[in-house]
Order: sequence, then C-alpha cells, then structure tokens
Amino acid sequence: MKYCRYLHQNKINWGSIEDNLVYKIEGDIFNSFKVTKQSYLIDEITLLTPTDFSKAICIGLNYSDHALEMGLELPSSPVVFLKPPTTALEPLGSIIYPKMATRVDYEAELAIVIKQRCKNISEKQAGDYILGYSCANDVTARSLQDPKGQWTVAKSFDTFLPYGPFISDEVDPNNLDIVSRLNNEVCQKSNTKNFIFDTFYLVSYLSQIMTLNPGDIILTGTPGGIGPMEIGDTIEVEIEGLGILKNFVSS
Ligand code: MG
Repeated sequence: MKYCRYLHQNKINWGSIEDNLVYKIEGDIFNSFKVTKQSYLIDEITLLTPTDFSKAICIGLNYSDHALEMGLELPSSPVVFLKPPTTALEPLGSIIYPKMATRVDYEAELAIVIKQRCKNISEKQAGDYILGYSCANDVTARSLQDPKGQWTVAKSFDTFLPYGPFISDEVDPNNLDIVSRLNNEVCQKSNTKNFIFDTFYLVSYLSQIMTLNPGDIILTGTPGGIGPMEIGDTIEVEIEGLGILKNFVSS
C-alpha cells in the first residue's frame, strides 16, 4: 500500500494512493484504519510530508562511493546524526537558502518510516516495526559542515528535510534504484544494494540507542554525486517504487 498525508479544504487526512487517485483513510495508519471509497485526483489535494516525526535520524557515509568523494574512510559502525522536526518540508515546497551559507547541497536518501514504538529490537524483528519507505533529501549547508567536527548547524536549517511524496510498504529496501536530478539533469545514480549498513541493521542498531516512535524516520545516507544547488533550482529525488520528491530552492 502507498500511504500519503494531504491537505484538502483545510483538513489534514491520511490517504491511500492508487495511480493518480488518493482514497481517504479513516483512522490511524499506525494502528487501525480503513480506506474509504471517497477519492480525489492528486491535483485536487496538497500532499504533506507523509508523517510528522519526533526525530529524523540520519546515517552519514552509508554508500562507499560517497565516503570516497568526501575523502573519508569507510566507517566500521554507522555515523549517526539528527535533524530536528523543524527541518521537515513537504513535496513541492521550497528549500530556503540560508543567508549564512555559501554552498547548499542536495543528498538523495531512502527514508525508513517507523510504524510502532520500539526499543532494543533485533534485526529479525525490525521489519515488524517499519511502516514503509519514502524519498528524502538530506539538504546540507556544506560550507558550514566540519567533516571532523559538528554537523548540526549544516544539517538543521528549517526546510532542510524534504520528505515524500508517499510511503510504500511494497518495495525491497535493500535493492532500489536511487537518482537525484538537478534542473532535470541526473547528478546521483546508485542502488540501495550498495549500502554499507542495510535497513534492518540500522533500525536494530538505532533502537539500542534511543526509543523509535511511530512516524520517526531514518535517512539511510546518500550515494556519490552530491553537489551544490542555487536559488531558482529544481531538485528531484526519485527512488524505484517510491515516486518523485520534487522541491525548489528559494531565498
Ligand atoms: Mg546525508
């Protein structure tokens, strides 16, 4: 199933996407719900981020080609950082270029969406706690990132986490083509089978550290090919089976 969250006539609802239709969901997608027969054309509604999240946990350097281009050694355990919920940006929203930055990069990433509160779960259990997968963009003010020091400033500006357009539970997260396009030109192209740490390992590992809440997302790192965006640019993240996450850059 493909879950989305949308705004229609000033009301926020969950929906189920089938082709170009969104069917209204009644209930709570994390617990019990039913898909109604009431439907809208996608163009009639405004898609929001598929979930609200209490935290976005991000993995750095999870594709070996990205570690190489950054001049960093392959990690023996996941590099972990957080983005606050105020970074969330809906599909078609505008990434605001911070005044203090001189370079802002796109980073196409697969997002894991948590279904149930969990702590200390094993890799074997991890699948039961995942609602599905989505596209995300770990926007980074590279000019403010210190590779050997703090990443929080560079990663945490408002609008620096485009997320969506929907969540699917119908894909194999460890074998998905992932692409980013800047102004329609492909700049990143890889497959999640190149992960250093796979999705179930990451969910289990992170649950040993902190409680994962429903709606929380884990960004699984970006492949090689990162680069800067400028004001006026259009950036797209496309992942096999997970649609296209399109955003704009503005001042
Ligand atoms: Mg990243």
